[in-house]
Amino acid sequence: MTHSLQRPCRCPHCNYSVTRYDALRIHIETVHTRDLRHKCAECSKEFARASELKSHFFIHYGEKPYTLKTNERF
Ligand SMILES: [Zn+2]
Ligand SMILES: [Zn+2]
Repeated sequence: MTHSLQRPCRCPHCNYSVTRYDALRIHIETVHTRDLRHKCAECSKEFARASELKSHFFIHYGEKPYTLKTNERF
């Protein structure tokens, strides 16, 4: 027994709906689930981009994080 009309898969985060679940999964991954692999060690806040995390560090350390590496003395 097959239904002629497939129930649309509704996105739990917005009003977006599609007929196929894998399409909905891709929608959620691209729109709602960003690649949050840059985690702040201080407050566990996650960011999609390393540059976002770097600028976030300002609120903890109050200085530019990219100056730390290049200041080594030889
Ligand atoms: Zn959505
Ligand atoms: Zn933080």
